[in-house]
Amino acid sequence: MTVQLDALTWVELDRLTRDGPPVVILPAGSLEQHGPHLPLGTDRFMPARLAALVAERTGALVAPALPYGYKSQPKSGGGNHFPGCASLDAATYIHMVRDILCDLARHGLTKIVLFDGHMENQWFLTEAADLALRALAAEGVVGTRIVKFGYWTFITPETEAALFPDGLLSWELEHAAVMETSCMLHLCPDLVRAEEIPDGPPAAFPPYDVYPVDTGPIPPTGVLSSAAGASAEKGRIVVEQVVPDIAAALVTAFQTDPQG
Ligand code: ZN
Ligand code: MN
Repeated sequence: MTVQLDALTWVELDRLTRDGPPVVILPAGSLEQHGPHLPLGTDRFMPARLAALVAERTGALVAPALPYGYKSQPKSGGGNHFPGCASLDAATYIHMVRDILCDLARHGLTKIVLFDGHMENQWFLTEAADLALRALAAEGVVGTRIVKFGYWTFITPETEAALFPDGLLSWELEHAAVMETSCMLHLCPDLVRAEEIPDGPPAAFPPYDVYPVDTGPIPPTGVLSSAAGASAEKGRIVVEQVVPDIAAALVTAFQTDPQG
């Protein structure tokens, strides 16, 4: 059967839930520039593909991926001023995710994974989880457990060494660079403009943030460090390492009864 929640009928979902709730994975993406070579939906395509691979191994379901996220920030995403970036205010984003979490739990889907593909979402996902648990407790809906991570946190030192044989500069400057480009070359090769992969010096940001955004230190490509070292083979190494590791981690994370 499909792992995509929205491809099930309510009857099928109800039957699955009665047998013990399946884990539901909610990929959280963004619509954000990813240089001249990767599509605006990269931060959604990546977690959505990885989540489907995890779900195929574990019997989890994948909820429709969120296509919009919190605003791109210069130091982690190049900034929200690039054409094509369309983002949500934090309050809008938090409440959207809270509402989804609450309705899933109200229908008995109490094991939920926030599978983040966009760094800027992370604390707002935390807030959404907190507000959802508060609302559910007030309604008497108990037993919900929410697990949150960015898939990149599963990359092991060995995989990091394979990605960056000359050493990693910084994960934040990896925006649209070696890791994301490699994974997209492996997972969605048709969406990568391989001849446009940029090779520029890394962005040099000051140790503070400025508002309104100072676009001076942001590379004009929107890519924060060189993507020239990317390859489909590196992408395969990342995917084949993180998918089983995430699958195993989810088994552990949902093992403990939250009421126990
Ligand atoms: Zn990205
Ligand atoms: Mn992003």
